[in-house]
Amino acid sequence: MKEIIQDYNLKQLSALVSEMGEKPFRAKQLYDGIMRGHNLSDIPALPKAFIAQLLERFEDCPLEIVKTLTSADGTEKYLFRLADGNIIEGVLMKYKYGNTQCVSTQVGCRMGCKFCASTLGGLVRNLSSGEILSQVLKVNALHGGTAAKRQVTNVVLMGSGEPLDNYENVVKFVRDMAAEGGINISPRNVSLSTCGLVPKMYDLAEEGLPLNLTVSLHNVTDEERARTMPIAKRYKISEILDACSNYFQKTGRRYIFEYSLIEGENSDEAHAKALIALLKGRPCHVNLIRLNEVKERKLMAASERGAQAFLKTLTEGGISATLRRRMGADIGGACGQLRINFIKN
Ligand code: SAH
Repeated sequence: MKEIIQDYNLKQLSALVSEMGEKPFRAKQLYDGIMRGHNLSDIPALPKAFIAQLLERFEDCPLEIVKTLTSADGTEKYLFRLADGNIIEGVLMKYKYGNTQCVSTQVGCRMGCKFCASTLGGLVRNLSSGEILSQVLKVNALHGGTAAKRQVTNVVLMGSGEPLDNYENVVKFVRDMAAEGGINISPRNVSLSTCGLVPKMYDLAEEGLPLNLTVSLHNVTDEERARTMPIAKRYKISEILDACSNYFQKTGRRYIFEYSLIEGENSDEAHAKALIALLKGRPCHVNLIRLNEVKERKLMAASERGAQAFLKTLTEGGISATLRRRMGADIGGACGQLRINFIKN
């Protein structure tokens, strides 16, 4: 695979342009074209000879949309093909306040959560910062957005992969996406979701980025959590909570827990009560969702009634919580489902 030009920010492009003996203003033209989601060969402002020179070293297109599925609720799901042929997926959810895109950070995942489709084939490789950014640039362009008038307003790192297992590239992606003059999506509008890689959560608190930190909790005791999340054998819930407190101290931002309700695993009244005891008084919010059933997995979703009861118990217990709709369930909305089907066929 050649290099990926989307890995370069404006400063890096300026150095590249000067190294190639081109006029300095070409860097901004190149950057603007990239931010509009153009392939290298489609950047109209650039001279053909310069493009030809760039194409010797860089991929024309790091990632292309090979399939789009639209759900009855308007949610769109995409399959992207990377330059090396690997497939990743993404989702765009449309809300009144804007469009939230869910991006992947790795091809596959090595965390092994029992309810998740992304991890079924293990980790294939990390995505570079430019491959993560290109997901946003391409979807923004697909919807007629430009860098100045964005069609993607919020980004969640909740596609395939564990973001903190690809730490450097993910942090560079967040910085590059926030750059002024670029697509300029602030970390305040970005949520990073982790299964709880505690040391990296401490590192993240030092980056000076006002990201929304989201932790996939999904249970209340380490023993029960370890049944569906192998990472629970490595880091205790108490250590995760300490890392969250530190994140709040350093960034001033409250944090969020993801809790996917699974029948017979984590969704009884007793779990709700234990969750209240665990989280009471913390500056946090709980996002409940009924499990998206993955056909390769045996786990079942909690019932709608059970989920409503769980939410009621939490709320009455003084915990800020919401039960999210399962958007795009009819098109394989859950993590990794679409890729699995595509690879199998
Ligand atoms: N690796 C990161 C981010 C990717 S997953 C993490 O673990 O947080 C995004 C969220 O979807 C996580 O909370 C994950 O646990 C959850 N998830 C994965 N598969 C799911 C499924 N089938 N149903 C409901 N939630 C699921």
